[in-house]
Amino acid sequence: CGIVGILGQSDVANRLLEGLARLEYRGYDSAGIGVMERSRVKVLRAAGKLDNLRGEVHQGKPKGRVGIGHTRWATHGAATQGNAHPHRAGDVTLVHNGIIENYIELRQALEAEGVAFTSETDTEVLAHVLDRLVRSSDDLHAACQALLKRIRGSYAIAVLFDGHPDLMFVARNGSPLAIGYGKLANDGTAEMYVGSDALAMTDWTTHVSYLEDGDWAFLRPDRVQIFDRSGVEVSRDIVTVPKDE
Ligand code: GLU
Repeated sequence: CGIVGILGQSDVANRLLEGLARLEYRGYDSAGIGVMERSRVKVLRAAGKLDNLRGEVHQGKPKGRVGIGHTRWATHGAATQGNAHPHRAGDVTLVHNGIIENYIELRQALEAEGVAFTSETDTEVLAHVLDRLVRSSDDLHAACQALLKRIRGSYAIAVLFDGHPDLMFVARNGSPLAIGYGKLANDGTAEMYVGSDALAMTDWTTHVSYLEDGDWAFLRPDRVQIFDRSGVEVSRDIVTVPKDE
């Protein structure tokens, strides 16, 4: 239902919670965050209100400058902690809005190969398919593009990879996703954001690009590369959104 992501220069756990709080009005039944700690993502999730997730975050104290967050409106699988996003498989940690239409056939194929699933969601297949692709290729870019070719349905996704601490992969098809551009600081450092709604980011930036259907992108704190469905690098207009009062 709601996605927020930060490639930042300071601790992000509490900022992710603030971003998710700005999306609360859309409704949700569970929530979670994934924070890159050194080079491994720590996942914290909770059923119910954001306050439950705040409790988990308070206890787990994730520390890191890069992270993703999600508020879930369950479509496949009950509103439990185990079905809440982010979902993990190997080095892949992912949040998703929308519905993967061919998830049953993808799941059955993976289960036949011995992959064990831990949730009832359509989303978890995305993590496992991408994990498989990443393992069998040394080209992360090609693996991400191959994922998008295998899945059908509506999605906005944001993905982190263990071992790639400054990188986020995002994609959209039928579910909105915007990239937010942070200010360049005096020391030359910058921040980059992502949100299913520009509103999630207005505390941090009012300069955003809306991805188009079929677009996918690689984000780093100081740069973004956007590709269209056919894999051609594209640029999307940067627009100024009003700061929400
Ligand atoms: N279909 C996914 C699920 O049920 C995502 C739902 C959403 O958009 O929040 O977990």
